[in-house]
Amino acid sequence: MTNTPLIGSRPICQQENAEPLIRSIRSPKIQPRHLDQQAVVYVRQSTPHQMWEHPESRARQYELAHHAQALGWPAQQVIVIDEDQGLSGQSAEQRLGFQRLLTEVTLERVGLILGLEMSRLARSSKDWHHLLELCAVFGTLLGDQDGVYDPSDTNDRLLLGLKGTMSEFELCTMRNRLQRGILHKAERGELFIAVPFGYAKLPTGELVLDPDEQVRETVKLIFDKFDEIGSVYGLMGYLVRNNIRLGVRSQQRSGPGEIEWRRPCRSTLFKLLHHPVYAGAYVFGRKRPRTQPKASTESYRRSGQPEDEWKVFLRDRVPAYISWDRYVANQERLCKNRSRLASSGVARNGPALLAGILYCGVCGRRMNVRYRHPDRPYYRCERHLEQATERTCGGLDAAGIDALLAGQVQRVLEPAALTLHLQVLEDHQRERERLESHWAKRLERARYEANRAERQYQAVEPENRLVARTLERKWEESLATCRQLQDEYDRFTRSQPLQVSEEERQRIMALSRDIPSLWDAEGTSAADRKEIVRCLVDRIAVTVHQPSERVAVAIHWQGGSVSHHDAVRSVASFSQLADAGRLRTRVVELRTGGSSASAIAEQLNADGFSSRRANRPFTKHQVEHLLELYGLTSKRDVVRLGPGEWLVGKLSSTLGIGREKLREWFRKGWVHGRLTPRSKLCIIWADADELKRLRRLRTHSKPGVSAHPPELITPKKRANGPR
Ligand SMILES: [Zn+2]
Repeated sequence: MTNTPLIGSRPICQQENAEPLIRSIRSPKIQPRHLDQQAVVYVRQSTPHQMWEHPESRARQYELAHHAQALGWPAQQVIVIDEDQGLSGQSAEQRLGFQRLLTEVTLERVGLILGLEMSRLARSSKDWHHLLELCAVFGTLLGDQDGVYDPSDTNDRLLLGLKGTMSEFELCTMRNRLQRGILHKAERGELFIAVPFGYAKLPTGELVLDPDEQVRETVKLIFDKFDEIGSVYGLMGYLVRNNIRLGVRSQQRSGPGEIEWRRPCRSTLFKLLHHPVYAGAYVFGRKRPRTQPKASTESYRRSGQPEDEWKVFLRDRVPAYISWDRYVANQERLCKNRSRLASSGVARNGPALLAGILYCGVCGRRMNVRYRHPDRPYYRCERHLEQATERTCGGLDAAGIDALLAGQVQRVLEPAALTLHLQVLEDHQRERERLESHWAKRLERARYEANRAERQYQAVEPENRLVARTLERKWEESLATCRQLQDEYDRFTRSQPLQVSEEERQRIMALSRDIPSLWDAEGTSAADRKEIVRCLVDRIAVTVHQPSERVAVAIHWQGGSVSHHDAVRSVASFSQLADAGRLRTRVVELRTGGSSASAIAEQLNADGFSSRRANRPFTKHQVEHLLELYGLTSKRDVVRLGPGEWLVGKLSSTLGIGREKLREWFRKGWVHGRLTPRSKLCIIWADADELKRLRRLRTHSKPGVSAHPPELITPKKRANGPR
């Protein structure tokens, strides 16, 4: 061993503030060049808790400054780096002090680094060897209370390496011991780190339902309302509308603390609905720490893991708010509410009735809703977009299939109509009673607070004015809160009387007898209709027989039965119709028989032909179009162009713009023109000046440009002729 023990070395434990006795101790490894540089004392304790609980260790670390002086460094050249107090030595990432130390070493300013033990410097081999490497290159010494080491010396290097390994191993041992202790307590179902809302922890460590009735009632209300509303957002809205607050109890060592009434927030509701404790189960290790390295600014997030990977799971261990079955049902519902490919999502307010439960019969994928127009949703299978394949599955307008489902659902509901109104009345009554009871508890609490403030005020001696004034103010405040709450309660009872009025009763009865009108009633939202459909129907599979108008529909009812139906959809052209050949023969036959367009339309409808538009009869206009298509009409417009007049096609190629753009300019009144009476051909007037203007307008019209100078969009006055 080349390491020379320090002669006369001993810890310098002096009283604070007293001048320490510095006895010179020397090591032959310390060269004059080291003494010219700084001696750095590195101070660190792992947690703030340790800093408070173990002041002795901290004091010993600071005293190393005297040790540096004893080794020969002048006092002004000894610096202490203590920025890393309360940080673990597990990694150098967050430790700014350690990084500063490394920088100082590389700048060749450091002759000696002192630490109480080597474990203060690093508990990770990687950081430790990095430091050793730098110290060896820049000739810096390392020292602790046992001696001084030179990292460029082979034997010292070996010893330092061992010390680093030992300190890393020590950390692992400590962590394992701690974690095993935690797990052992958890396995007995006795470890409660955070107390869930609605529960209280007794000084004995036992978890019980919150002793406050209002807190317990609120938790029950949340679960009941989730059953009814079915989504966390809906639940949140209900709580906010009715001004319902959650009583959160602070937890102290001596037992349950005060209740604080807080506004609900979405994450609290999610946690509450997902937490198995409310079903009486004790769970530990439900979340797993993220494995990816986290950026320093990112908050620590944990992800949930499946039930069979929970470290501890004990059923019926704590008092429950809901049954286990109800917990499982809630999880399924929350899972379905997620707007992912595999789940149906929550019933929202869009007009498409079957969004989320309509599946493609060809590939089995859930169909997406697209809007060509805000009121005309369209269901479409988008497998071809996701897999970049040829389009094989079709889509259909929502109107037809929605009507089919609405009819089927109403038919199923018919027998339930008699019991419906009784149920509605009962629900109505129960809901009001529940809100009433919630209000009663809030009022009771406010009155109690006011009474207590009054008693406190009465108890104080009038001479003690300072205290009396404070108590008086408190009393007044609690009285004001009480009055305000009473006003709110009065408003509430006025808007929602406890008993259902006779008028309401009649309305409910009338509505529940007539299901179709209930379905279409103004108060029934799109989301309500969707909820009803989802109560009865599990999924619907539609198979579009491409390219025709025919669609096969299979309704999978809740409970397992399946009913099959035929439907039609709108198609783009007559040639797509399944009966296109027969239709043509019939039209030709009727036309050659001398029938007019309206007569042909009537006959086609009587024969039961499907038109191009789903569930709509043939019209005169459609038949005219058919006749033109089959070449059975000669009544075309004879187009005669006046001076300066252009057909749209010709003008568009002259200007180098699209025909549609030109028609749009005509519609907006930016050019003069006319439509032919029958074929509605667009004819535009443009003389040489107008052509110049239109060319400039074309250059100006770029995508995203909506405003144009007025002179570009005002057509030149046309002397005589139609607009
Ligand atoms: Zn498909």
